Amino acid sequence: MSDAIADQGLRRLEGICGSCGMCCDGVLFHAVELQPGDHPRQLSALGLKLRRKKGVEFFLQPCSAHRQESGLCSCTIYAERPMRCRGFDCRQLRGVLAGEISEEDALGKIREAREKVAEVNGLIDQIAETNPNRGLAHRVANALTPSHGEVKSAKLLELEVASQELETMLLNNFRV
Ligand code: SF4
Ligand code: SF4
Repeated sequence: MSDAIADQGLRRLEGICGSCGMCCDGVLFHAVELQPGDHPRQLSALGLKLRRKKGVEFFLQPCSAHRQESGLCSCTIYAERPMRCRGFDCRQLRGVLAGEISEEDALGKIREAREKVAEVNGLIDQIAETNPNRGLAHRVANALTPSHGEVKSAKLLELEVASQELETMLLNNFRV
């Protein structure tokens, strides 16, 4: 969730990011790299589970600071969140901030995407047990591994199609 929310007034935009959370819950990203200006020790102390690979510090999504209660998303470390989070505005948020997309239309796209995410999650659950602490793309890939293929090929095809439709939707409406 980006700084734009604070800049433009949380009340007006909380309906968009508050109804979405897809840049925090593993739908859009599987990991977030720390940037110059981030303070790893402080972020660790706030509960982010940082990892390091080839000198790069990052944390996996779903983010441990992400909460979803009664359909409303929030970040428990919002004021202290990492630089990448501050800088990310998805296409819908950008459009609303620029006055090019109405809040109602953005909420409609978010609803549509979330329904597709729910469909993909439902299909994954019917095929395999996957790690809920990994991003959606990782869990889809895990469910589509050949070892699950013989008994449930129709479901695998359904998952393949649904996850491709979701990715196209995310590319066209959310990714930047
Ligand atoms: S994906 Fe966009 S609308 Fe959703 S929480 Fe992130 S910035 Fe907000
Ligand atoms: S730190 Fe906050 S804004 Fe950043 S990914 Fe986690 S929940 Fe989202």
